[in-house]
Amino acid sequence: MPDIVYILAWGMLIVAAVAIPAAMLLRTRKLDKAPCAPPSLPPYDIGAAEHAAESLAQAVSYQTVSHTNQMEHGGYGEWIRLREFLKNRYPLVHSSMAWEVVGGFSLIYRWAAAPAAEKEPILICAHMDVVPAGEGWTHAPFSGDIAEGFVWGRGTLDCKNVLISVFEAAEALIEQGFSPSRDIFFAFGHDEEIGGLEGAGAIADLFATRNARFAMVLDEGGSLGRSAIPAGRPVAHVGVAEKGMANLRFTAKSGGGHAAAPPKQTEIGRLSEAVCRLEFRPVSPRLTPLVRDMLITLSPELPWRWKFYLSNLWLFKSRVLKIMASRPDSNALIRTTAAPTMARGSGAPNVLPDTAEITLNMRMLHDENDVALTQYLTDLTADLDVEVEVLTSREPSKVSRYSGRDFQSVAASVRRVFGPTPVVPNLMYGGTDARNYESFSDCVFRFMPFLLTPAEHDRMHGRDERVSVEALGRAVAFYTDLMKTF
Ligand SMILES: [Zn+2]
Repeated sequence: MPDIVYILAWGMLIVAAVAIPAAMLLRTRKLDKAPCAPPSLPPYDIGAAEHAAESLAQAVSYQTVSHTNQMEHGGYGEWIRLREFLKNRYPLVHSSMAWEVVGGFSLIYRWAAAPAAEKEPILICAHMDVVPAGEGWTHAPFSGDIAEGFVWGRGTLDCKNVLISVFEAAEALIEQGFSPSRDIFFAFGHDEEIGGLEGAGAIADLFATRNARFAMVLDEGGSLGRSAIPAGRPVAHVGVAEKGMANLRFTAKSGGGHAAAPPKQTEIGRLSEAVCRLEFRPVSPRLTPLVRDMLITLSPELPWRWKFYLSNLWLFKSRVLKIMASRPDSNALIRTTAAPTMARGSGAPNVLPDTAEITLNMRMLHDENDVALTQYLTDLTADLDVEVEVLTSREPSKVSRYSGRDFQSVAASVRRVFGPTPVVPNLMYGGTDARNYESFSDCVFRFMPFLLTPAEHDRMHGRDERVSVEALGRAVAFYTDLMKTF
């Protein structure tokens, strides 16, 4: 009897040894055959691109830098001047659409279908404010210089480029006598960079009172080009969800005292250890269904090694997670991240703090929440006598439907303008105004039709932000196509 068991066990081992690698190879072969068209960009309208560049250059010159205490930073005069510029630059939009000011400085427009359509409207969004510019720019940040084929300045990527491209597309379509087959709404917030409560928040409140419903919402978000795992050609990343965000605080208290005779462990020492522990033991990584789908969709564009891993995730999931964890942008897709952003101690170099604190900005994956995070941090620092508290918290967004017709319509516009480009659903780790519009649509997409190199992408919120005139021209073509075909 034991002999039979022994033979059976060996038999199963041999079968497994042959069958498993064979199955893996087979799966990899299948993926290798996936189409991989060479990058080819269709021509674009150079005249339209140059017109858009001039418009964007002027829009950039209005210093709509938002602050939480805006009245102490010169108020909203620049927003009003930007609005006047838009009215003058786009007379057809302003004469043929119903438009109104919401929340003091945000704008909404309704381009009514003619004849009136049964189909649900769509909503296209952007924001008019920008982050502060800082110093050291090659071209002054609000000069709106056009040089070397680029429009330079704060907001040229985030996101007056979107605002202007949408206006350019709509104005030209009206001039050509086009009317949409469904209502198209536009919403342009004025305070996205400081949370969007008074802008997009107020617009959402207004939409709620009007029982608004949209087939699709399209806001700024992922772009074309940069991919968390480097692909062989530019990829369009359409954000279909946003991570949640929580600000938490570590606090250490003691009696303070003179810095000349410090205790063996100080408040700042305990806090430092808490942060070090968190960096060495971050929240566990995992592949959410959305990120897994993103990787699978992306896999035909990836090197052979990645195809192999992704077609055999049952075996290589931990390997995939390990590689993704090695880069900040892919790491942010697979775990709740924590960034220490603010620290406070005593007010003088020779005084021990009574209370010291460190603030953490955490970005939560789906199915995670601030209660679980607080527990994690409390357990991690249990012996350090450090308090953990939640300051603010926002749950992850809903995950929009990315398997249906609406996602495919956006993808089709991408391909008509940018050629045979892979379009993948993406998780956004930054926030957008779009989360305010979740309750009005099952398809809230975050995508900017701008082809950017990684270096250009890194200028967003940084120095020497700029957008190429060509990229602008293609974005106008994208919005034109979307409005005509959706
Ligand atoms: Zn933005």
